[in-house]
Amino acid sequence: KTLMIAAESALYSAKADGRGTWRFFEPELQTQQAERRQLEADLRLALAQGQFELAYQPQVNTTAGTVTGVEALLRWRHPRRGLVSPAAFIPLAEETGLIVPIGRWVLAQACADAAGWPAGVRLAVNVSAVQFQQGGLLSDVLSALQASGLPPGRLEVEITETAMLRDPQHALATLGELRANGVRVAMDDFGTGYSSLSTLRSFPFDRIKIDRSFVRDAETRADTRAIVRAVAGLGRSLGMSTTVEGVETASQLEIVRNEGCEEVQGFLFSRPQPAAAIPALIEQL
Ligand code: C2E
Ligand code: MG
Ligand code: MG
Repeated sequence: KTLMIAAESALYSAKADGRGTWRFFEPELQTQQAERRQLEADLRLALAQGQFELAYQPQVNTTAGTVTGVEALLRWRHPRRGLVSPAAFIPLAEETGLIVPIGRWVLAQACADAAGWPAGVRLAVNVSAVQFQQGGLLSDVLSALQASGLPPGRLEVEITETAMLRDPQHALATLGELRANGVRVAMDDFGTGYSSLSTLRSFPFDRIKIDRSFVRDAETRADTRAIVRAVAGLGRSLGMSTTVEGVETASQLEIVRNEGCEEVQGFLFSRPQPAAAIPALIEQL
C-alpha cells in the first residue's frame, strides 16, 4: 500500500511537469501533495463557512492626490492557518474550478460594499482566466451590479495579460460584452507577460496597470524609468489611463508622476484595508 502511494505520488509529480517525464519518489513530494489535498479540502468549505473577506486598497490620482478608485483584494481567514495570501490559494482555486463561485462572491460583496461609497470612486475587481473560460463572468457581473445598485460605469474588471492569452477570441468577446454594458476593463500586471504590445492593440482596455516590478527599479535604473515613461505615453495615445502598482516611497511617487502616470496604488498611501475603513480613507487622502 505504501509503495502504491509512493508510486502514485511520483507519477502525479511527473504529470504536473508534462508528458514524457519521470520522477523518483521523494518523501518530501508526498508531504507537499498531502498538504495540497488538505488545502483543497479546506478551500471547498471556505465559501460556505464564510472564511473569505475583502480588503480594499485606494488608487490615487498623482496630481490631485484624491482617491479615484479602490481595488478589492481577496483574503482567506483560515481557522487554523490564519490569513492565507491569495498567491497561495488562487492557483489552486483556479485548478479546481472553485474560483468561479469564489469570484462570484467577490463580485457581489465588492459591489455591495462600494455602492455605499462616494459616486466618484471606482471599484476595481480582479477576475481570473477561468471565470472567463467557464462563461458565466458576464452574468455574474450583471447580477452583482443589479443586486447592489452600483452603476456599471463605476466597476472596473482587472484581468492579467496571461489570462487573456489562454483563449484570446473568447476573452476578447467577453471584454467587448462587459464594455457594451458600461463596465470598464483594466489590464493588470502589465509588463510581466508576453507580447504586451500586440495585446494592447487587439483588446479594448480602459486602463493599463504597470506592474510593481518597474517601480521597484525606477529609482536606480534609467532604463526602467524610460519604460514607465513609454508605457504612460502609449496609454495616452491609445486613450487608456495608466495606474502604477506598488508605490511605496515618496521618491517613487515623484518619479512616476514625472514620467506621466496619472494614478498610483501602493503602501505609500495605504495598505489594503477592511471595507469599514474605506469611507474615512477616501475623505482623508
Ligand atoms: P494584483 O491584482 O496585482 O494586486 C496587487 C497586489 O500588490 C496585492 O497583493 C496588494 O496587496 C499588493 N500591493 C499593493 N501595494 C503594494 C506595495 O506598495 N508594495 C508591495 N510589495 N505590494 C503591494 P495581494 O492582495 O496579495 O494579491 C495578490 C494577487 O492575487 C493580486 O495581484 C491578484 O492577481 C490576485 N487576487 C487578489 N484578489 C483576487 C480576487 O478576488 N480574484 C482573483 N482572481 N485574483 C485575486
Ligand atoms: Mg489587480
Ligand atoms: Mg497587479
